Amino acid sequence: MSGGARLSDETAALLGRMGVESAAFSHGDRPVASPITSEIVATVHDAGEADCVRAIEAAHQAFLTWRAVPAPRRGELVRLLGEELRAAKSDLGLLVTIEAGKTLSEGLGEVQEMIDICDYAVGLSRQLFGLTIATERPDHRMMETWHPLGVVGVISAFNFPVAVWSWNAALALVCGDAVVWKPSEKTPLTALAVQALFERAARRFGDIPTGLSKVLIGGREVGEALVANPLVRLVSATGSTAMGRVVAPVLAARFARALLELGGNNAAIVCPSADLDLTLRGAAFSAMGTAGQRCTTLRRLFVHDSIYDALLPRLKAAYASVRIGDPREADTLIGPLIDAASHAAMDRALTDATAQGGRVHGGERVAGPGEGIYLRPALVEMPGQTAVVLRETFAPILYVLRFSSLDEAIALNNDAPQGLSSSIFTNDVREAERFCSAVGSDCGIANVNIGPSGAEIGGAFGGEKETGGGREAGSDSWRAYMRRATNTVNYGSSLPLAQGVRFEI
Ligand code: NAD
Repeated sequence: MSGGARLSDETAALLGRMGVESAAFSHGDRPVASPITSEIVATVHDAGEADCVRAIEAAHQAFLTWRAVPAPRRGELVRLLGEELRAAKSDLGLLVTIEAGKTLSEGLGEVQEMIDICDYAVGLSRQLFGLTIATERPDHRMMETWHPLGVVGVISAFNFPVAVWSWNAALALVCGDAVVWKPSEKTPLTALAVQALFERAARRFGDIPTGLSKVLIGGREVGEALVANPLVRLVSATGSTAMGRVVAPVLAARFARALLELGGNNAAIVCPSADLDLTLRGAAFSAMGTAGQRCTTLRRLFVHDSIYDALLPRLKAAYASVRIGDPREADTLIGPLIDAASHAAMDRALTDATAQGGRVHGGERVAGPGEGIYLRPALVEMPGQTAVVLRETFAPILYVLRFSSLDEAIALNNDAPQGLSSSIFTNDVREAERFCSAVGSDCGIANVNIGPSGAEIGGAFGGEKETGGGREAGSDSWRAYMRRATNTVNYGSSLPLAQGVRFEI
């Protein structure tokens, strides 16, 4: 275990190696605590109102130049960023662990995800293509072209402190946009490190307009400044549904684009034919991994009556024995909660669950280094899908319910106000296909025989209903970062009008 001084020294050394000036994390009014021990490891400056305006205006100026740089050349910048991330993977991964409290394997995984999206975006920089469309008019050609959009604002949550930026920034940069990032106030250090790595890549690239990628440290008021500024054409906001409810109407009022990645309340259905060994591993990772602090964390488990008594004792045993502790240690599977507010929310949910008829196993505080908040994940047997089950508590709580028919289980899955991720464990192809069909799960992600968490960047990521409807990362998500123009070109010498309309002068 690390003692007090060591953690801040370690943090300073990591930041220094990644090129962050010490003044950026040793002065300022915002203390940054590591959830590992709860000690303050750095202090940072918050951006003021004038800083926000300056950064956004500089980003807009940068956009005006960057949009004319050929897309494959823009891809070269992202390729260099990927190289910097590869070189810094172990340092940045450890810093994610120190700042967000996730295990080192998950911290490194998060950086790997950044590298993956960079690789993806480099390829994409040669594939930003539109359609050619049949036209009813002779000697005409109709097509779609895609153009850079403008300044993209990125607001991110504490639990994926760097990957979410990269999902947005790698795509936005190859699409010809500039990016202004407001990271979570709980995780500014990893953002400063990523910005320093970006600047290294930019120096190697050469002629980069200043202001192309900026980070603004601060709380919700900095996010609000980004959301309100008319130069910001798209805001990609990741966080709670409560945050989305404030942000979305402001963007709608000024007709800016919103890409919302909000709360989830993800479920898995375990059918009679399920492979229980695989189900156990899938459910355990999805529910307990990252101490239940993933947007895709498994929070509701629906188990068929016929296998409930076979699965539950095994799940309870896994919960009772899972290794909890310092997330930097190799055999730790569960690290700390982010802060005391999270702990209070978990306690509140467990009290409510008990009052609503639930039987709680686990959930108690366990010893860990320093003042870090370490809890045994809670498994809660519920008599039905009560109010507490339908609310997202961002902590390691898994509600377990029985069901007797697949239709009932799908209805339970879809009853949640959020619609991010879902999965089914079954060896019956009819059940699997029904779950993935139009009458199945209503979520943005519907998996078969894997848990709801742990997505790859190749697919579009996001969810429906109170999750916000946004899609990031792979597939055709890049289109959100560009504007589409439909071009009709007449290469003939007459002017036929569409729909047979006549207008002779
Ligand atoms: P949060 O909503 O408290 O904060 C997220 C970000 O929004 C922070 O940067 C915060 O400063 C900013 N913010 C808050 N209010 C704002 C406002 N009015 N205007 C502009 N910005 C504002 O969320 P959190 O506690 O950091 O993260 C946990 C939540 O995020 C959970 O609900 C989780 O499900 C969700 N999440 C969703 C996804 C997804 O992809 N759907 C991914 C990660 C986390």
